[in-house]
Amino acid sequence: MSPEVLTQWRREFHAFPEIGWSEFVTTATLIERLEGMGFAVLSGKAVIHPEFVRGRVQLIVDAGLAAARERGVSEALLERMDGLTGCMAVFDSGRPGPTIALRFDIDCVNVNESTAPDHIPNQEGFASTNPGYMHACGHDGHMSIGLGVAQWVMDNRERLKGKVKLLFQPAEEGVRGARPMAESGILDDVDYFACAHLSFSASSGTVIAASTGFLCTVKIDIRFRGKPAHAGAEPHLGRNALAAACHATTQMLGISRHGEGMTRVNVGVLHAGEGRNVTPANAEMQVEVRGETEKINTFMVDEVMRIAQGVASGFDVQLETEIVGEAVDLICDAEMADHVMAVAREHPAITEVLPTKPLNGSEDATILARRVQAHGGKAVYFIIGADRTAGHHQAEFDFDEKQLEIGVELFAGLLLRMAS
Ligand SMILES: [Zn+2]
Repeated sequence: MSPEVLTQWRREFHAFPEIGWSEFVTTATLIERLEGMGFAVLSGKAVIHPEFVRGRVQLIVDAGLAAARERGVSEALLERMDGLTGCMAVFDSGRPGPTIALRFDIDCVNVNESTAPDHIPNQEGFASTNPGYMHACGHDGHMSIGLGVAQWVMDNRERLKGKVKLLFQPAEEGVRGARPMAESGILDDVDYFACAHLSFSASSGTVIAASTGFLCTVKIDIRFRGKPAHAGAEPHLGRNALAAACHATTQMLGISRHGEGMTRVNVGVLHAGEGRNVTPANAEMQVEVRGETEKINTFMVDEVMRIAQGVASGFDVQLETEIVGEAVDLICDAEMADHVMAVAREHPAITEVLPTKPLNGSEDATILARRVQAHGGKAVYFIIGADRTAGHHQAEFDFDEKQLEIGVELFAGLLLRMAS
């Protein structure tokens, strides 16, 4: 795969970033490229179980659909997506062998890209043309690598046995897209699962074979519904949702630490109230918890829910809760990590191979990996080092595009070791 093509693909994705569940242009591009290479490509409900879709906001979906139509995505393709983004390309060698799944995420983040003249996407003319949105986490690079691997699979089809499934997952940010993909069942025959992230804590030339320190997390939207009343004349007739949300916030921030491991709780958003002289009838909170293990994380979720219920009862307001995102922890399988290390060590451009390093974040590929492991398969999550100009999710973020080719070669090496 020529590095120029990989760079061009990455830059095309970069120029039109789409936020989770609205990646219609992105998915259309992927489907067309993958089918052009000769893959069978599944999309819509075949890869996303609608009942498990997390944090999908209809207004954002509709805006994405409108943008897709404006940009000439065909009705036939949109029909195939059925309102659900993401897709999976399948290669079947026709020869007995393992089924291997590789996952690439496709969404962007809510960041306005830097307008600084020295920012490379501005210099080279591929900065985001979708205001408020930016590929500031490297998922544009992940898709480019995924397409590069796809082309490699087709070019090397005679050397492979078994099946290869290439998953292009929507809505990683906010950890929303993996659960419905897992629940669709597309991974249930998978023997080996691999996923990688560009950059993070590793610079160009470094590979971290097996990430650790994935925190379990659950994202919860909480809504209190009270009753408006005249704040001067008849305050006793109102039911105060704002007061409930404030109490809930301070109590949640006071949840005790867990003795068996790391915990986090954050109330990131609190919107409440309608007017100065009206008892506030509506309050909305965006809350997240994290835990080192599923047990600890469940403790945090239970505490948050209990507080919300207690406060709702105390202030006599209605309560609605909605889980809008989730991820679990992951222990990479040693067998897979060994394969990654062996492939990385053989690569002339890789100068440092670390067996492991903690990520200390959350990533919903863990849900896909867990699904594979639950069926007796093996999984790994590795880091492809890449120099970057700023931290992930920052407006100045950009990464070393030379690592795209290395990413393709690492995945190709893995496929050769496991499926030839
Ligand atoms: Zn990311």
